[in-house]
Amino acid sequence: MDTNEKQDLTPEQRRRRMALKKRKQRELQRRRRKKRIIIGAAAAACVLILAFTIFQVIRLVGSGSELISAKGDTFVIALDPGHGGEDTGMTGGEAVEKDVDLKICSKLEIMLESQGYQVIMTRTDDTRLSKEERAALANESGADLLVSVHCNYAENDAEKSGAVSCYQDKDKKSQALAENIQAMLIEESQAADGGTEAGNYTILSSTQMPAVLIQPGYLSSVEEAARLADDSYQNDVAKGIAYGILASLDRG
Ligand SMILES: [Zn+2]
Repeated sequence: MDTNEKQDLTPEQRRRRMALKKRKQRELQRRRRKKRIIIGAAAAACVLILAFTIFQVIRLVGSGSELISAKGDTFVIALDPGHGGEDTGMTGGEAVEKDVDLKICSKLEIMLESQGYQVIMTRTDDTRLSKEERAALANESGADLLVSVHCNYAENDAEKSGAVSCYQDKDKKSQALAENIQAMLIEESQAADGGTEAGNYTILSSTQMPAVLIQPGYLSSVEEAARLADDSYQNDVAKGIAYGILASLDRG
C-alpha cells in the first residue's frame, strides 16, 4: 500500500511536495547568500584589523617641527585619486590608471577612517574632475593634508619600475610627509625605491595644506602593471601610504 501511495500521489500531495521542494531550494539559496555576505564582511574586517595595528606601530616614528597638526578636533585628510571618467590615465596590460588610483585611495580611506580620522575624497566613483576642481574641493574642506595617487609611466623604458613620492616645492611639511610615505611604501610593497622629489603639479601648487603626489609604480612595466592591478598588492600600497601619513601627524 505504501509503495502505491508514493506512485499515485493525489494532486494535492503533489502540490505539497513541489512546495516543499521549492522551500528547500529557497532556504539553500538564502544560506549561500548569507555565506557570501559573511565572507565579504570577514575580508573587510581583516583590512580594518590590519589597519588598526598601524596606530600602535607608528606612534614611535614621527618627530619634530615637520609634523602636521590638526586644525580641528580630528585630522581631516584629503585623498585625490587621479583621473576618472573619459580621462583614463595610462594603461598597462589589464591595469587602467584611473581604477588603480581609485582602488588604492578607497582602501586608504577605510584604513584612515578606522583610526578615527575624517577623509575627504575628491572622487569616489568614475567621474572626471579638473585639477582646479580637485584643489578647490580640498581647500574648501579645510583638510590638514592631501595625498594624490597616480601611476607612473616611462614612455621609452619598459624596464623602469618603482615608487616615487612628490611633494609641494619649498614646503618642509610636505617634504617630510613624502619621505615618510616613501619609506613605508617601499617597506610594505617591496617596490624599487624611486625616491622623493619636488613635484611640478597643479594639485600640489594649488592646495593650501601639506600635499604630496604618490606614484606607487610604473604601468609601462608589464610586471609592475600586473602587480598594481592586484588587490592584495593594492592593500600593501595603501598600508604603506597610511603608515607614512600617520608617522607625519602631530598626535600630541
Ligand atoms: Zn596620472
